[in-house]
Amino acid sequence: MKVRRKKIRFDRIFIAIAILVLLVFLVKFCIKTVKNFIINNEAKSSDTISVGDITLDIWNSTIDYIKENKKNITINYHGDKVTIKASDIKNGMNIKLDGYNKTIDEPLFNNVDSYYIKNNDILNLSSKISISLPGYLRNHDIVDVYKVKNKKISLYKSAFEVVDGSVTFRVDKDTDYFITYINLKSIKASSVILDEGTTSKINMTFNPNNASDLSVKYEVEDPSIATVTGGKVTGLKAGKTVVKIISKANPDVEKEINITVNAVEKPEPTPEPTPTPEPTTNKTSKGYDIVQKDGLTYIDGILIVNKTYGLPSTYNPGGLTDEFQAAFDEMQEAAAEDGIDLFIVSGFRDYEYQAALYDKYVSFDGIEVADTYSARAGHSEHQTGYAADINSADESFEGTPEAIWLDENCYKYGFIVRYQKGKDSITGYIYEPWHLRYIGKEKAKMIYESGLTLEEYYGFDSKYED
Ligand SMILES: [Zn+2]
Repeated sequence: MKVRRKKIRFDRIFIAIAILVLLVFLVKFCIKTVKNFIINNEAKSSDTISVGDITLDIWNSTIDYIKENKKNITINYHGDKVTIKASDIKNGMNIKLDGYNKTIDEPLFNNVDSYYIKNNDILNLSSKISISLPGYLRNHDIVDVYKVKNKKISLYKSAFEVVDGSVTFRVDKDTDYFITYINLKSIKASSVILDEGTTSKINMTFNPNNASDLSVKYEVEDPSIATVTGGKVTGLKAGKTVVKIISKANPDVEKEINITVNAVEKPEPTPEPTPTPEPTTNKTSKGYDIVQKDGLTYIDGILIVNKTYGLPSTYNPGGLTDEFQAAFDEMQEAAAEDGIDLFIVSGFRDYEYQAALYDKYVSFDGIEVADTYSARAGHSEHQTGYAADINSADESFEGTPEAIWLDENCYKYGFIVRYQKGKDSITGYIYEPWHLRYIGKEKAKMIYESGLTLEEYYGFDSKYED
């Protein structure tokens, strides 16, 4: 009897263990299948996948499906959405979003509309992110993006264009991003006293000085006495008038200043012999003609803009030129065939806009440093409509597959990398592997093969007068 009992107990234990193992396996399998099914199922019914949670684990089969069908992922988060393009989605990736409407413990950024993106796990293998902005940011034409690393905030790039409610930019691993629009509250400016026929800068400061949109327009009460463009007053005839400085983004913010133009005694016309015209030095050091027409400078048919040669404040092609756009489209298509994704982050910028942008960089870094990476108004190639920043405007772009591709191939489409490495003292700017200038295929090939900058090839300077 005893022996028989023991045998039965052993069988029962064995069966119990077997059932338990099977059960655990089944439960695990079911969860996997259900999760996978839900995501797949939603993807099939619409162009995007929506989940209500902060953390989303994506299964490999789902990723294959997303990529094959070119779906984007949209994550709903507290009623707002973040979209990640299919091309940026990688196997085994994790997406985590954190800190909705977060106030950062920094007086500069308190009480502003901001969107904080914690990037520890976002797009680990990807180099760019497309953010569909929440409602309170998407109404602005531009937003500022700050980098947050080791709890330190620094300006990543000012004035990102908002396109269809989204911004697209390169992301670095281990960096968080902070997207914001900071309202301009007031403008301070002092009166200007100047002589007839002279030009003087308006001393202007903005509160806060990191406001997102510092662009202003000017209304002169009596335009026969003075005119104002790009923050500079030109005295036309003796008298007094008033200039109203108005924020373009927020017309409620304005400041009135007095302008006094003093008469200048005209010197007696001295009966000097008519001076013999000095030999015009209208050739570069390499013997090319410097042709000046309507305030524009051309060398070998190329519109030249650098620190020496500027553009009139009124010069405005209204956007990127058709030539630039057509060449870029052609290049973008060719790059895509090599698996390289190119996009324009900053194209045309008009005179007033560049003036505001430069002032903002000066308020951050001072004139000396700002001059190494940002152009003064009238001296930006972006005002020509023949230049744009591709994919980035940040030094971390150097050495990326996109930067290398551009460096090796852009000339085939008529572009040159305008500010080359180690040529700061010649071009006047730090290395900008993202800044392309269109000059036409033939000339771009010529410059590329010479290994020289535009300044060196033709033999002209890039230096501000002062
Ligand atoms: Zn640029």
